[in-house]
Amino acid sequence: MKIGIIGLQGAVSEHLEATRRAMRKLDIEGEAAWVGRPEQLEGVDGIIIPGGESTTIGKLMVMTGLFERVKRLAADGMPIFGTCAGLIVLAKRGDEQIVRTRQPLLGLMNTDVVRNAFGKQRESFEVDLEIPVLGKKQFRCVFIRAPAVREAWGRAQVLAKFQEKIVAVRQDNLIAVAFHPELTSDTRLHEYFLQTCRRAGG
Ligand code: GLN
Repeated sequence: MKIGIIGLQGAVSEHLEATRRAMRKLDIEGEAAWVGRPEQLEGVDGIIIPGGESTTIGKLMVMTGLFERVKRLAADGMPIFGTCAGLIVLAKRGDEQIVRTRQPLLGLMNTDVVRNAFGKQRESFEVDLEIPVLGKKQFRCVFIRAPAVREAWGRAQVLAKFQEKIVAVRQDNLIAVAFHPELTSDTRLHEYFLQTCRRAGG
């Protein structure tokens, strides 16, 4: 199995590490690779869009041609896992700022997102949340100037909420979370994504 991590900006190396650890846990033979150009997506079974600055990641994806390539792969069912800024980039719609600045959104998930949804005074915090698809044990969620989903519709299913706000969503092979699972030692979300990739690969 090969997982490509969009490595233009943001928390890339942490995702490489977390993905490798999750592969070992699940006994999956595979590699996690840094992706900066469309050709590097050749043969991948899944794609991760990391956290960082969604405006920058979106613009660089357009410039490198990754934007169009990822969109096309998603149309064929490619599993994609977006975290924090990645959740924004995957969305179909966004808040006033997103509309005004016309930042590029892949528009793949039936979600309407708000940037920096948890306010200035709470720029960064950690909280244990129950994410039922991961089992009973709570998951430590690291929020860093995190977005939230204010609406999810159609095939998009809510996986977790915090303070009435949606912070984890799944839509078929697409998974998005508002926090940073790559910054903790708990690899369950990465494992959940790899299982999705395994199923999608047949
Ligand atoms: N606030 C950032 C954005 O809007 C996301 C923050 C993050 O990815 N940690 O893009």
